Amino acid sequence: MTQVNEQAVQKMVDEVLQHVATGWGSRANPTVGAGAAPPIAQAATQSSGYLPTRVTAGAAPAARQAAAGRFGQFTDVDQAVAAAKTAHRALVARSMAQRKLIMATIRGICVAQAEQLGQMEYEETQIGHLADKASKLVAVGQNPMGIEMLRPPAFSGDHGITLEERGAWGVIGVITPVTHSLPTIADNAVNMIAGGNSLVINPHPGGKKIAAHGVRLFNEAIYQAVGIDNLICVITEPTLESAEEIFTHPDVGMLAVTGGPGVVAAALKSGKRAVCAGPGNPPVVVDESADLDNAARCIIEGAAYDNNLLCLAEKEVFVVAGVFEAFMDAMARAGACRLTPQQMDSLARKVITPGSSGGHPHADRKFVGVEPEVLAREVGVSISANCRMLFGQTGPDHDFVMAEQMMPVLPIVSCATFEECVDCAIAAEHGFRHTAIIHSRLVDHMTYMGKAMDTTLYVKNGPSMAGNGAGGEGYGGYSIACATGEGVCTPQTYTRLRRCAMIENLRIV
Ligand code: NAD
Repeated sequence: MTQVNEQAVQKMVDEVLQHVATGWGSRANPTVGAGAAPPIAQAATQSSGYLPTRVTAGAAPAARQAAAGRFGQFTDVDQAVAAAKTAHRALVARSMAQRKLIMATIRGICVAQAEQLGQMEYEETQIGHLADKASKLVAVGQNPMGIEMLRPPAFSGDHGITLEERGAWGVIGVITPVTHSLPTIADNAVNMIAGGNSLVINPHPGGKKIAAHGVRLFNEAIYQAVGIDNLICVITEPTLESAEEIFTHPDVGMLAVTGGPGVVAAALKSGKRAVCAGPGNPPVVVDESADLDNAARCIIEGAAYDNNLLCLAEKEVFVVAGVFEAFMDAMARAGACRLTPQQMDSLARKVITPGSSGGHPHADRKFVGVEPEVLAREVGVSISANCRMLFGQTGPDHDFVMAEQMMPVLPIVSCATFEECVDCAIAAEHGFRHTAIIHSRLVDHMTYMGKAMDTTLYVKNGPSMAGNGAGGEGYGGYSIACATGEGVCTPQTYTRLRRCAMIENLRIV
């Protein structure tokens, strides 16, 4: 080979290596000191240079070293945060193309391994409906939202141009629920990494093994794709103490919690910026104008999915008295099993714990997400194998109405008027401002209830999950921040607006 050819080949090899390492493409590689993006090895060991010291300072070299090859598995919060911080620094030095690649990598695993991962989650948590587990991961994998959501608003005028760019918070402390351990982790990871962040997750102890397994898979694949390890760190032996350590860690820039009222209250007390996807108790109202068969089918579809574990799933139904019995017949026709009011009372005594000192009643953990035949057996009823839902008449203050039951049994309440239905729905929703559903053909009723409920999701004439992208327009997500108002979380949720102003220049029109 001639000298010239050798040089040409070497140049090509260098270009390819540079592309792989930084994702910047074939355009001129910016040089260190002028916005360059060094590969991970350099980024992890440099203490200054292309990034300001404030950003590169952090984990001691020994901690960085120790974190290499961990693929996100940690028992110690300090070590996890240090590794996540290093990973975040590497991420923001890379191209947006590489962020897209990381998102696609996580989503690809969710789709390709949905069955195995869903089975593992079910075997560990023992809640929900096995056949629905894979679809939850596929939904994360097919979510269309991406870095285009980070498009910066611009202001252009006589005084120049101002741009508001969406920057990262850094390391985000994440708490996930047992009801959807890996789907929440995957969904959060995609959105947070899109925004330039890394994660330290304290999963629910009941779903810690699938959490650790999934995080390992994601990190290994990300490392293979772009050479960054520990973008997603998980505390493999999570406790309330480790959650508290994350909440108060000085290097955790933001919290994102998904769970019940306890964790929301704890996160809000932390003093950090917190995105809180809290509890719901979604009511349904059915008025005289509704297509009762469609209403029954939709309510069963939403409420029975994964045995009612979804926070947005139908939890109680208020029906105008004039169509009450017709609606109950429609529920039976659609395949649900009707219990007597006495059986509903008796079942509630077994599976719901009454509220103490002013608190709402809540589900006995032993019965959360169980199959309908388990509940039916508790009251001496046997149901057919294809029955996915129990239902029965109760009063408006019944424990099944007031509790977020998360099990496949629906209390149905008869109300004299539509307005009374809405009043009862407001009381049952407890001000969570999460989700409400109406079945009606009257636009006036839809508008009245929508305004009165003031919820984050409001679904008309469809199953609840259609308000979260599944069978309705728009995107979906596993963290619906109703407590703090961000709604269905996206990459945008996990960014800070940063303003960049050029004065008296750059405007070309
Ligand atoms: P949970 O509240 O028992 O636990 C949720 C997480 O919070 C777990 O990781 C748990 O270990 C942690 N936790 C609980 N108390 C804590 C405290 N004081 N400090 C720190 N961490 C604490 O809830 P769960 O049974 O795992 O999940 C079901 C709940 O989550 C339901 O209320 C459901 O509505 C809600 N949820 C909401 C959304 C949403 O998007 N809004 C999504 C899924 C689940």
